[in-house]
Formats: sequence, C-alpha cells, structure tokens
Amino acid sequence: MEFQFNCPLCNGLISVRETCPECGSLMEDWGRVQDYLDPYHPYLDMNTTAPGEQREKKCVHLFKCPQCGRDTRLVVNQVIAP
Ligand SMILES: [Zn+2]
Ligand SMILES: [Zn+2]
Repeated sequence: MEFQFNCPLCNGLISVRETCPECGSLMEDWGRVQDYLDPYHPYLDMNTTAPGEQREKKCVHLFKCPQCGRDTRLVVNQVIAP
C-alpha cells in the first residue's frame, strides 16, 4: 500500500504570506519549483537526504517579489492525502 502525499499549499489548504527581505513587499507564489526545474536539479539535494525522498514528501515553492524581483524558495512539508 502506498500513501499519497499532497502539498497543502498546492492544494490551497494553507496560504503563505512571504514578505520580501529586500523591500518588504508581499511576494507572489509562483508555484512549485519542480515545475520550473529539472527534478534532479542539484538544488534539491541542498537541505536534506535523498533527492527521491525529498521529492515525495516535500514541495518547494518559488516566491518572487513583484517589486524588486528577488526570489526565494519555501519548502512545504507534504501531508498524507485522505
Ligand atoms: Zn506545493
Ligand atoms: Zn522586494
């Protein structure tokens, strides 16, 4: 039996308000980094264990500041779908 993991942010269960560290503007959620980058991009190895495991249980979102263009990434822990 396999569990299905879902990202609560992708599914609209939570909302995140990130403010820009540069200018303090509210940053926009550009969606999952996985949608922009190759899944095996080295970035995904940066802050945890095996890339495969991380891809299963975490969702990395890209936030971008509309004012100054700074971007940041937010790691969201996925939850087991009902
Ligand atoms: Zn997500
Ligand atoms: Zn900014």
